[in-house]
Amino acid sequence: MDDSTAEPKILQDIPTVFFSFETKMPFERCMECEEYLLDGKEYMIEKVMRRYEGFSASDTIIDYALCISCAMKLRE
Ligand SMILES: [Zn+2]
Repeated sequence: MDDSTAEPKILQDIPTVFFSFETKMPFERCMECEEYLLDGKEYMIEKVMRRYEGFSASDTIIDYALCISCAMKLRE
């Protein structure tokens, strides 16, 4: 057995809950700089949802994706 040939696991599958509410697709570009995100870059998705007590429905209030460098800038 030789484990060294095992390919690193890349988390490419994005849970549908993190898809864009608007397009129902994964975010493709950074909201700030419009850099393309889906070619293996690290990026973050922010999503704020509101749930209503007693209802299964929920509203998406905010959702966007940011590349790591824009996310860092916004945190400064
Ligand atoms: Zn960016």
